[in-house]
Amino acid sequence: MGDKTKIDWADASWNPVTGCLHGCEYCYARQMAHRYAGQDTGYAYCYRLPRYGSELIALDKPMHLRGKKAPYPFDFAPTFHRYRLDIPARWQRPRNIFVCSMADLFGEWVPDEWIAKVFKACEAAPQHRYLFLTKNPIRYSKLKDAGMLVPHDNWWFGSTMATEGAPYAMGRRSFVSIEPILAPFDNMEEAPLVGWVIIGAETGARKGKVVPEKRWIDDIALYCKEWGIPVFMKESLRKLMGDDFRQEYPWDMASPWDRKPMREVAP
Ligand code: SF4
Repeated sequence: MGDKTKIDWADASWNPVTGCLHGCEYCYARQMAHRYAGQDTGYAYCYRLPRYGSELIALDKPMHLRGKKAPYPFDFAPTFHRYRLDIPARWQRPRNIFVCSMADLFGEWVPDEWIAKVFKACEAAPQHRYLFLTKNPIRYSKLKDAGMLVPHDNWWFGSTMATEGAPYAMGRRSFVSIEPILAPFDNMEEAPLVGWVIIGAETGARKGKVVPEKRWIDDIALYCKEWGIPVFMKESLRKLMGDDFRQEYPWDMASPWDRKPMREVAP
């Protein structure tokens, strides 16, 4: 839970909140939480959010398991690790931080108070770039309407493309993650100007695993090229894409919002 991450589009992950109630069928985070779940010392207070019938847990100190800090003491139940809030401030070297890679910070069950404290911790460490990602992007809009979410130049708001809602409400510093891609993707026309697109293939050894066709990725990449949108293909696509493999970061490139889309100038 810290500096290192296997997520190739960020260089660190930070998980002040863990656990998620979306219940996606193939969830890597839930598998990890199951594997490292359990605690044998420490303390907690818990309260219930009756709407979801689930316990939300807040911790002021880490709990332990067999003498080591327990990263997921309550398995995949939504847990606020308040003692982790100061981690970005302790990292002096600037990083691209994936915030809550082991949760959905913007799930409807997450109290506003938790999100506000995470935002405050981000503001206290402005040397980093913060990458948020949710399956529930409508929460971005709700927070914005409530005056709780004020855009910052170093905050990026992502959503998974499979969801309905308001994924692009955050404008130029928004991104979409199409992962895993399971079929040809026809929804790009609904996302004319996001600031970044991430694509990945299904990983793991699941029976029936979907192996994408190159043309599915080519179609998205072509669309992005027309609109000047940077594309980041995850390592899982490197072999499939060959010479067409691209890993672009929006902060290294002119924003599509500042460029004339090729589509407008093309004959
Ligand atoms: S939204 Fe993400 S963390 Fe939550 S269940 Fe689905 S895959 Fe897992």
